[in-house]
Amino acid sequence: MNNIEHIAFAVNSLSNAIPLFEKLLGTPCYKTETVATENVKTAFFKTGESKVELLESLTEDGVIAKFIDKKGEGMHHVAFAVENLASEIQRLKAEGFAFINEVPKKGADNKLICFLHPKSTNGILIELCQEIDEK
Ligand code: ZN
Repeated sequence: MNNIEHIAFAVNSLSNAIPLFEKLLGTPCYKTETVATENVKTAFFKTGESKVELLESLTEDGVIAKFIDKKGEGMHHVAFAVENLASEIQRLKAEGFAFINEVPKKGADNKLICFLHPKSTNGILIELCQEIDEK
């Protein structure tokens, strides 16, 4: 795995959280994007080589809404950049790690993504992401 590509926080309201994080990080939100398949709206901030991603649920029963119900707002997942998602998935499966989705799907910010199951990663939700080449 390469650098931490982004760290993601679950928030109740992007319209409240975006100005707060703009103040906190001293940098403007450069993109918001709805990922309908995941029922989330996302907002991104650049922090050096990494990014901060905010996640707001689009529906009351979405995964982010359920997460906030259970744990409150806060850190949701950490994403590592990988060059070859398919081979990284194979490597981690061989090491015995469990996946939430081992078939990569399209996530926000032009990425192919998959999530490891927190049961096999000390309770931490870990995302792997590979930049999609658009040529
Ligand atoms: Zn993410």
